[in-house]
Amino acid sequence: MADCVHCGFCLPSCPTYTLWGEEMDSPRGRIHLMAQGLEGEPLSARMAGHFDNCLGCMACVTACPSGVRYDRLIEDTRAQVERRHDRPLRERALRRAVFALFPYPRRLRVLRGPLHAYQRTGLQKLVGRSGLLRRVAPSLAALDGLAPRLRSVPRTPGRVPARGQRRAVVGMLTGCVQSAFFPEVNAATARVLAADGCDVLIPPGQGCCGALSVHNGRRAEAQGFARRLIDLFEMTAMDYIVINAAGCGSSLKEYGELLADDPEYAERAARFAARVRDLAEILVELGPVARRHPLPVTVAYHDACHLAHAQGIRAQPRQLLAGIPELEVRPIADADICCGSAGVWNVLNPEPAAELGDRKAAAVLDTGASLLVTANPGCLMQVASAIRRRGDRPVALAHTAQVLDASIRGLPVERLTRPA
Ligand code: SF4
Ligand code: SF4
Repeated sequence: MADCVHCGFCLPSCPTYTLWGEEMDSPRGRIHLMAQGLEGEPLSARMAGHFDNCLGCMACVTACPSGVRYDRLIEDTRAQVERRHDRPLRERALRRAVFALFPYPRRLRVLRGPLHAYQRTGLQKLVGRSGLLRRVAPSLAALDGLAPRLRSVPRTPGRVPARGQRRAVVGMLTGCVQSAFFPEVNAATARVLAADGCDVLIPPGQGCCGALSVHNGRRAEAQGFARRLIDLFEMTAMDYIVINAAGCGSSLKEYGELLADDPEYAERAARFAARVRDLAEILVELGPVARRHPLPVTVAYHDACHLAHAQGIRAQPRQLLAGIPELEVRPIADADICCGSAGVWNVLNPEPAAELGDRKAAAVLDTGASLLVTANPGCLMQVASAIRRRGDRPVALAHTAQVLDASIRGLPVERLTRPA
């Protein structure tokens, strides 16, 4: 906190300050509130509200010239809010439901069937047109709008062997939302890794990595998830642990700090974290082997906050896309501002999240690109939902892995450019 010199360089990159122009909803203002707390000011509902409003996007961390570690500050503050702040009943119930569902891939997978039926029968359109859900339960309406169009894909086997000479053995994390709602992204990820010479191992029975919990002040829960994942991945020898979801990647890389005080796990967690790589990171590190076929398409690449700000991975995905013949990458204006997804922030704060989503959708459409590419399931759902809401020009969406996969397999570009 003492490192903050109140210069305000972080303000323009903060989505909540951009929305409301309110000092206490800026990084500088929140640090001021944290300092007040240290000086003995009791945690009021107003203070907790300003902390809850933070998306945890970490744009302020990269914008800050003084090296303020706002990420650490907000994580510790949220843990205190969870311990000491009594939320209203409705809010408590919503949070309980959210955290009983999202970090559990099996529970999410159970939802696939009913969701598929809900979408196929036209009931979803009917509910959307009536506007009733939005008035009665805004968070449920947000979830309804975010739900992706489900696709059936064959189950990816537990081991996908390297094509040609083996260059590395990688363990792949399948994620909660990613495995339940975007299995096609995981399948594409495994194929791309194998094509570039990796033996891909997918340990069965994977649980949550704890990202959602740790980013929301539920540290003990996150530590439990982390321990289980470490146990599981230690059962097989592998050079790297690869993840294709930005939010999960940033928390996996912090396992060393998360379990630093656990004598049984501290060292193992640090070893685990040192082997974690985002998909784009490992592919650039190893260098391409498989031939990239042309994909004549204009792409707008959206930096997921937990990839760009939390992990500093900006160049690698662009480098990978630039390696595809005939593919053109166009920049998105105000790229540093979050799309409003931020884990479950868009479910807990549906109205401002929709406003941020609308701004991002407008910036994406302004590029004139026909395909939006990003590396986080939350961003894919958030921007797709905003584009659907606008209803003017359709834009297709894909994960970086799907674009690389299509190029390596020589698929027609139309396979990628079906609108969201
Ligand atoms: S957090 Fe950094 S950029 Fe923001 S006011 Fe403080 S010193 Fe300046
Ligand atoms: S993490 Fe994002 S929303 Fe929170 S203060 Fe920093 S820039 Fe603002």
